[in-house]
Amino acid sequence: MKVQKFGGTSVGSPQRIKNVASLIKSFPGKNIIVLSAMSGTTNSLLEITSAIKEGELNKAEEITEKLYQKYLDVIQELFSTSEARQKALKLVNDVFEEIKSWIPKKYTLRTEKEIVSKGEIISTHLMQYYMEETGEKSVLISALDFMFTDNNGEPAYTSIKNRLNEIMPKYKDYDTIITQGFICRNPEGKVDNLLRGGSDFTASIIGAMIGADEVDIWTDIDGMHNNDPRFVEETDPVHNLHFEEAAELAYFGAKILHPTCILPAKLNNVPVRLLNTMEPNAEGTLINNELEHGSIKAVAAKDNITAIKIKSSRMLLAYGFLKKVFEVFEKYRTPIDMIATSEVGVSLTIDDDSHIDEIISDLKELGTVSVDKDMVIICVVGDLEWQNKGFEARALDALRNIPVRMISYGGSNYNISFLIDKKNKTKALRLLSYHLF
Ligand code: ASP
Ligand code: MG
Repeated sequence: MKVQKFGGTSVGSPQRIKNVASLIKSFPGKNIIVLSAMSGTTNSLLEITSAIKEGELNKAEEITEKLYQKYLDVIQELFSTSEARQKALKLVNDVFEEIKSWIPKKYTLRTEKEIVSKGEIISTHLMQYYMEETGEKSVLISALDFMFTDNNGEPAYTSIKNRLNEIMPKYKDYDTIITQGFICRNPEGKVDNLLRGGSDFTASIIGAMIGADEVDIWTDIDGMHNNDPRFVEETDPVHNLHFEEAAELAYFGAKILHPTCILPAKLNNVPVRLLNTMEPNAEGTLINNELEHGSIKAVAAKDNITAIKIKSSRMLLAYGFLKKVFEVFEKYRTPIDMIATSEVGVSLTIDDDSHIDEIISDLKELGTVSVDKDMVIICVVGDLEWQNKGFEARALDALRNIPVRMISYGGSNYNISFLIDKKNKTKALRLLSYHLF
């Protein structure tokens, strides 16, 4: 059994839904199909909720109406029988009635969770009705019936697994089982979600819990590339990645895969394959626990990085200094990305600078603080196990004419990161491609 996830753009128009449907029909064996909302929908739903939050109820109604009209057009174009159209219309009407019923109510977080869940509810129903209309046997199961989170907002793996074990045998006669990405229920049983981009996570969790043969993530590019095609002219798809390499790349900027998606699949050793709906026969990128020894795989960049340097004469031969530094970041719930230390100071980077003023003021108690904004982390990913010779040198050599603010190496076996000024980003990415691939 495979889990096949289609993202928002893959189901972003009636024509695309049709294309995905024929792709699904061509899949051999049993498949669980995980769908995102049609592209743009989740954003519109969030706009509705923030209008409600701001008390701009007319605006909320307008956006709702516009989105509703969009779905009327989708129904018109997607279906050809009046029976299917009626069914879809009923669903869409019900969903929008529900959304509208939240508008006059006092805003709470629940308003948002309920409203934002509707995108995936609609897309999956439309797909199911389209499959029915075109004579394909499939069944829709609600993610709200098995995707549960715990008190930390993390997947409640045991409950998910148990529930799936109960549900799946009921549908043993179905080769195509459709469900929603992204949405779930929290410990109170209320509708919740797995955060933006969470459909990849859904697919990975399901794949891990049922021990799928593979989790396929369908998007509209042919897998991960070895560099960012927006900045570098010649990039190539990377055909094989270790989970750790993929996680570094996803985290450091490769937009194609949500970083959290990796974990459940990795831990349960379920391979993940990135595929392209536009070119279904292209090889894509296979991500698993196998490492291709001695090869550098890809380069990625992460923007909007702030570097903070804390220098303290007291750090010399002192212990506890780093702990105090880290406590400041913990206090403001700000994750640290890169870190480099010397005997008298430490430099680190953050990408969320919403608490930067408080952070700096607290750090000043510990030493002299300086800040560099608009920096970029350039991350080189591959088999960078320290016993391998020469890889660090090659990466460094490629950047010989670029001022480097920080270097981080040895934190994992899979990456070396450089912090540079934003203005040198494109040049650095190109030089790395030229020298490494
Ligand atoms: N629809 C959700 C979002 O736009 C989940 C997803 O597409 O993965 O974030
Ligand atoms: Mg996505």
